[in-house]
Amino acid sequence: MEEDYVFKIVVIGDSAVGKTQLLGRFTRDEFFLDSKSTIGIEFQTRTVDIARRRVKAQVWDTAGQERYRAVTSAYYRGALGAVLVYDITRRATFEHAARWVDELRAHADKSIVVMLVGNKADLPRAVTADEAAAFAEEQGLFFSEASALSGDNVERAFLRLIEEIHANV
Ligand code: GDP
Ligand code: MG
Repeated sequence: MEEDYVFKIVVIGDSAVGKTQLLGRFTRDEFFLDSKSTIGIEFQTRTVDIARRRVKAQVWDTAGQERYRAVTSAYYRGALGAVLVYDITRRATFEHAARWVDELRAHADKSIVVMLVGNKADLPRAVTADEAAAFAEEQGLFFSEASALSGDNVERAFLRLIEEIHANV
């Protein structure tokens, strides 16, 4: 069946925070790899029904381009949503979230909806949920912890983001 909307969602955050695993958890629908592209951008999709509308979420992965400022503006072009991932076991990845927000402000559409995800919630933490929630509130981001390994909250976080994008279209 045809979808009513296609939402481009970019996944960003430091290396090894679990971006690819989170995306793989959420989307098992189809796989696209632009092997001709030197920047190696790829995305996967999953179609969900929201408020009687069929929404295709096209979720883009950085494919190893996550070094600070190495993600090009092409990656952000047309994105309606972003999942900004840090690793709750590595404090530096949370501290870098502010830089990723700066990247979004510089390259993405002003109205982009952002979900901050503290991944690896199955492991002992180095970042509290309270401080991450406070940062998210200050920056105008939605927030959830999740575990790509156990699957906890992954679907919920993505669906919340998609619902919020849908509420804005
Ligand atoms: P990326 O570089 O951000 O795309 O990170 P990956 O998705 O490749 O994951 C980096 C590493 O973290 C891999 O060894 C994953 O197996 C591991 N990992 C990813 N998500 C989780 C998680 O939720 N819990 C645990 N324990 N490990 C995870
Ligand atoms: Mg990856």
